[in-house]
Amino acid sequence: MPDYKLGTNCLHAGYTPGNGEPRNIPIVQSTTFRYETGEAMGALFDLEAEGYFYTRLQNPTNDRVAAKIAALEGGTAAMLTSSGQAANFYAIFNICSCGDHVVASSAIYGGTFNLFSVTMKRMGIDFTFVAPDCSAEELEAAFRPNTKAVFGETLANPALTVFDFETFAKAAHAHGVPLIVDNTFATPVNCRPFEWGADIVTHSTTKYMDGHALTVGGAIVDSGKFDWTKYPDKFPGLCTPDESYHGVTYTERFGLGGAFITKCTAQLMRDFGSIQAPQNAFLLNVGLETLPLRMAKHCENAMTVAKYLENHPKVTWVSYPGLESDPNHALALKYMPNGTCGVVSFGVEGGRTAASKLMAGLKLASIATHVADAKTCVLHPASTTHRQMSNEQLMAAGVSPDLIRLSVGIEDPADLLDDLENALAQL
Ligand SMILES: *Cc1c(COP(=O)(O)O)cnc(C)c1O
Repeated sequence: MPDYKLGTNCLHAGYTPGNGEPRNIPIVQSTTFRYETGEAMGALFDLEAEGYFYTRLQNPTNDRVAAKIAALEGGTAAMLTSSGQAANFYAIFNICSCGDHVVASSAIYGGTFNLFSVTMKRMGIDFTFVAPDCSAEELEAAFRPNTKAVFGETLANPALTVFDFETFAKAAHAHGVPLIVDNTFATPVNCRPFEWGADIVTHSTTKYMDGHALTVGGAIVDSGKFDWTKYPDKFPGLCTPDESYHGVTYTERFGLGGAFITKCTAQLMRDFGSIQAPQNAFLLNVGLETLPLRMAKHCENAMTVAKYLENHPKVTWVSYPGLESDPNHALALKYMPNGTCGVVSFGVEGGRTAASKLMAGLKLASIATHVADAKTCVLHPASTTHRQMSNEQLMAAGVSPDLIRLSVGIEDPADLLDDLENALAQL
């Protein structure tokens, strides 16, 4: 395919219909695929031939949508997962085993924090969390001889901290490990982490990529830039033969562009099976087609709402990286000059109790444990998504107990401001 721009790739990348074929990516609703001989299928099992045999590992619908996401991020390979949680788990577990260690920004999604600090810790993988704005010395001190990756979020959910890619990429690469970035909130429309030194990108496609709150899903994209073969002792899974696949060495057989995703599919998808349903991949693809249009509108509306809130006497603080007053504004301009996302966080006079009252007073914005879809919704993380965290952990993640997370949709902004005005008047 020619080198099209992102907006064109949102419609056309990943799938080129042949003569007389469907214009939309077909839903291949089949668990299994038929072969003429046992040998033909055997070659697939040995990763000697390309093809499909069982949808738990790969499905053509998913692969086409994944290829589109790879094109949008500027990566060499991608895979879909059943959720964003699965994507982040796979991305790390693909290169970390029991006894390994990861340096992660503390400003990350609550679910990811729990996955790392509780569940993956039980698997023997240790995480050191550092403040997103920590000094070079603090960052340096977080590394250990067994560190295998650095992890961050482009725009932290819900703190909206902007990840300083260059600082973290530099530290990661100085230690011979890849930088993995969750790019869910910015989407490749607003930020392409590979251009700033990230090596692997993950997504919860549940958010803006789907964009209509229809499907839970995730994606992992490889830049193909990280040279695992320079550190064979650190990454034996990629650089030495995999006995569970007849001795294939992923970096040798699939090159730097394909090794990470092939290993992740062949081992982790095979063994954990967190595949995305082809139906969901189809719906995700419909969302991807309009991603640039929606992101622009989300950002425009969020900016309007953030400015309105900033000037409201009952609002004590507003966090939106697009605001000039925001501490993350300079980083946002550097990494996301066209806009950040549609999520705005704020607090109101009267703290926690007033926050619940405000939410109850909103009519157009629905209370939902969700963000980043077309319809405006609102959430109080301290009593829902982040309730497992202590106050100290909340503060480290940039989530104050009174934080209200408003996910601004693509409605007419005048109606959104009216809704807020009415609810604020009731406080
Ligand atoms: C929602 C979210 C996740 C988890 O994704 P699911 O699809 O809900 O599993 C991970 N990272 C970020 C930044 C998110 O917003």
